[in-house]
Amino acid sequence: MNNNENPYIADEPLKVPDSAMRFHKNIIETLRELVKCSASNPLDKEFRLGFEKALLLYDDYQRETLSANKKQASCAKGCGLCCYHWVEDVNSFEIQIIADYIKTQLPPRQVKNITEACRKDIAAMENLEKIVDKKFAALKPQTQIDPSFILLSSFYQLERPCPLLTPAGECSIYTVRPITCRIYMSLAEPIRCAPSNINDGEVVTCVLDLQEEANALLDELHLRFRRNEGGSSALRLGILEELDDYDIEFTAKTEHIS
Ligand code: SF4
Repeated sequence: MNNNENPYIADEPLKVPDSAMRFHKNIIETLRELVKCSASNPLDKEFRLGFEKALLLYDDYQRETLSANKKQASCAKGCGLCCYHWVEDVNSFEIQIIADYIKTQLPPRQVKNITEACRKDIAAMENLEKIVDKKFAALKPQTQIDPSFILLSSFYQLERPCPLLTPAGECSIYTVRPITCRIYMSLAEPIRCAPSNINDGEVVTCVLDLQEEANALLDELHLRFRRNEGGSSALRLGILEELDDYDIEFTAKTEHIS
């Protein structure tokens, strides 16, 4: 079987057909309405419904693009290897929606585990950052290596999963997972997605991003609801901030029981 017949191998970037662009046009219209809407926070019903609609349209856009290219994502429930990558670029409004889902849908013990994992990840990243900065300063100016590349490679060696991944390898917030997770697909054997394999040179995964105008609208919404700078730890920091009250309540409850 050559690569053209194998639905799991992407030997060239996916072409977005006109049939998928129709869904993309609707995504843009939906996002424009969200930009215009008067919602004061992303948990307002009007915003939630509009954003859910945009996500459903993205599913159609992705499915139509894969089908037109005769490709098939090999991602399956329980895999979760891509969840060992460092999740960046999560929009501020997505973090608030995710935190609300955690508070209202997950059992307290799981919430506790998530907040603890967020704290440990942030501490591990800060620690690595200091080590990398020190080593990098010693190498300058001879090296052209990007320090963020070294930082991420070092973090991957710790083999820490996303704090939202369950021990069974499932996303605990799957229905509200961020766009950055939705756009990433494996078009090869899933084992290729493990961070240790991701730089082996083969094009085996695919990111089907939204196009420029849609991303600009998402950025506008992100800035409108942004509560802090966030940076590369935005998801973890945001979850901790949003769950702060909940966490304290849970601690008080368990102390009372014991
Ligand atoms: S949010 Fe969910 S899908 Fe995204 S990396 Fe975390 S566990 Fe994986």
